[in-house]
Amino acid sequence: MVKIINEKTADKIKEIINYSDFEELKFLKDMVEKGSFMKIVESRIEEYESHRKICPVCHSELNAEESFVLYFGPKGLRKKAHFCALDCLDYFVTQLNEQRKKRLRNKTGN
Ligand SMILES: [Zn+2]
Repeated sequence: MVKIINEKTADKIKEIINYSDFEELKFLKDMVEKGSFMKIVESRIEEYESHRKICPVCHSELNAEESFVLYFGPKGLRKKAHFCALDCLDYFVTQLNEQRKKRLRNKTGN
């Protein structure tokens, strides 16, 4: 099964290459050399994997088309969380906000 998929994928890519003109081929070569293709492939793989994840709030399996994504955290430590529904996202954001308020209270000593 995997072999058939691999051959089909290779055929798809070959087809794109075979139908490309000179300028497009130069562009493709440039993208391969710069690693741009790898970034696209990695980001697509990440998308697929994230769709198989579990909602951190209600623990139900995430639906690929209907999940919500939240990026949060300080620069350099950005986190990405996926939620099954808006109310789960809302609950999570509320919890984050509560933690933030707590930290602020602890800092000021009140
Ligand atoms: Zn949920």
